[in-house]
Amino acid sequence: MSSPETEPTEASPVEAPPVALYVHVPFCVSQCPYCDFVVVAGREARGPTNRIDAFTAALETELRLRADALDARWGMPGSRPALASVYFGGGTPSLLPVATVAGLIDLIRDRFGLAGGAEVTLEANPGPDERGDPAALRDAGVTRLSIGAQSFDPDELRALGRRHTRADIAATVTGARSAGIPSVSLDLLYDIPGSSLRTWSRTVDAALRLEPDHLSLYALTLDDPDAEGLTGPTGDHLPLRPGARRWREKARSGQDDDRAAAMYEIADRRLAAAGYEWYEISNWARPGHQSRHNLAYWRRLPYEAVGPGAHAFDGATRRWNAARLDTYLAALTPTERASPNPPPGGSERIDSGTAIAERAMLSLRTAEGLALAPAALARLATRLAAPVAAGLLDEAPNGRLTLTLRGRMLSNEVFARLV
Ligand code: SF4
Repeated sequence: MSSPETEPTEASPVEAPPVALYVHVPFCVSQCPYCDFVVVAGREARGPTNRIDAFTAALETELRLRADALDARWGMPGSRPALASVYFGGGTPSLLPVATVAGLIDLIRDRFGLAGGAEVTLEANPGPDERGDPAALRDAGVTRLSIGAQSFDPDELRALGRRHTRADIAATVTGARSAGIPSVSLDLLYDIPGSSLRTWSRTVDAALRLEPDHLSLYALTLDDPDAEGLTGPTGDHLPLRPGARRWREKARSGQDDDRAAAMYEIADRRLAAAGYEWYEISNWARPGHQSRHNLAYWRRLPYEAVGPGAHAFDGATRRWNAARLDTYLAALTPTERASPNPPPGGSERIDSGTAIAERAMLSLRTAEGLALAPAALARLATRLAAPVAAGLLDEAPNGRLTLTLRGRMLSNEVFARLV
């Protein structure tokens, strides 16, 4: 007989084939000091010593190895679900030659299967020499461009170490529209040191004037991956450079939680008035333009992932690749004496209790909210009673819990009750 802790629920770990694929492209022209992503910049990204070709060969090898493993576990493409989404994230994937993007999409279609109408997102930076050719990207199979705008304020862009201007953002959106890319998203950052409610309001309004289909608004976070133990040889982050560490220490003193909350509220109001619906704490979209790929993460669906620092999830185990490009290339580049191997990294089996907490937190991030119907999740009701009483959570007549606007701004306080 199963105990309440082990009884099957929809939150229990169950392996399943992936419905989404993340591809990490680590190259950037220069490194922004606030950035925590796995990035290599400068001579490794451009010029005669760039490593893009070596990386592409290694990435293709990893795609084949991961596909081989899926074939063995779940059957060949056609007998397992085709991917509903692919996401090229970075880094700056728009730095890849478009023929490389096209070749990768073809390989993915061949080895993983791509569902009809699959969403294929590519992240692009707006600089004229890094945004790529949108028409060629569309022809290669890209259906969604996610543009790293971050701010429309020239001083803030400079402070963040960004290379582009307001005009570059507008040109990138216009180019994507003219090329017929079906969905265009802008990323913006708030709580930037030196920013104000005035500069933020102007940034939100400038973004809305470009009429993107989707907006992601993230508070600038300045964590320390070294202190969190994430930068070892098999870690999924790279060590901070001394200059970036100094920049962050100074920048932290220019951040303000109350200002950040006010910025969130301003944006939510203006976006709602302009016809964008929030569907996740940091994401708003016009109807039909929600990121299907990111929804797969929040719905805790299984996804595959390739590239340095990339994370995969098969419903029961999380796996990650180590962040370092050298070790990534060394593992995947064949030699006379050795065949390629999956890159180093780590994995973690998710126990039932963690799975339940994860499902609750991920569901509560979204406007879909959390249904407490399964028995395991129903046990969370007592832990969530206080946030309901404090007005951070709304309980719909059908029993689903969703974050209120105040709850979205204080979501960490709600989530802390679930772990
Ligand atoms: S462009 Fe984006 S990914 Fe590259 S360093 Fe800057 S923030 Fe990071």
